Amino acid sequence: MSFKSAIYPGSFDPVTKGHMDIIKRSAKMYDKLYIAVLTNSSKRCSFTIDERIEMIKKCTAHISNVEVCTFSGLLAEYAKSIGVIAIVRGLRAVTDFEYEFQMALTNKKINKELETIFLTTNSKYMYLSSSIVKEIARNGGDITDFVPAAALEDIKNRLERNDKNGL
Ligand code: ADP
Repeated sequence: MSFKSAIYPGSFDPVTKGHMDIIKRSAKMYDKLYIAVLTNSSKRCSFTIDERIEMIKKCTAHISNVEVCTFSGLLAEYAKSIGVIAIVRGLRAVTDFEYEFQMALTNKKINKELETIFLTTNSKYMYLSSSIVKEIARNGGDITDFVPAAALEDIKNRLERNDKNGL
């Protein structure tokens, strides 16, 4: 059987338990899973690219077939350059669908060998997003249940600093 790898791209600003669930499940489906942290997103991120990468590395250190990387430019081209056969994305709700569908078709147009695989969210994390985590933290709430334990302190520290600096 041939070696099969996939890429899970995202902003991960910051990584949440919802992301971790998708990572753990998709790492079981492929020989290798690249987690690709987006550098050139039009989104303004609260965490630097290095912080986002470091946090995911800490949280996935125990999963041997995961590699964290970063990319800018076209995902479909990057995917081709590292030889993956699939893009993994998580679907939370109907609201995710339209954008994801558009992206999947666009990526297929650019690289027709590449499949997009959607994993439905774990119902426990349906409501969870990086923005919700930041919103809760900004309002003094406890984010322990929403982010992986290995990244909890880093996330709290950074969001407290952002808050002080009015970011
Ligand atoms: P992007 O900016 O690319 O949407 P995100 O970091 O917000 O990056 O999300 C990366 C991927 O993880 C997306 O496919 C998104 O749908 C998925 N995802 C985010 N949160 C969850 C969750 N709670 N459950 C399942 N999938 C999720």
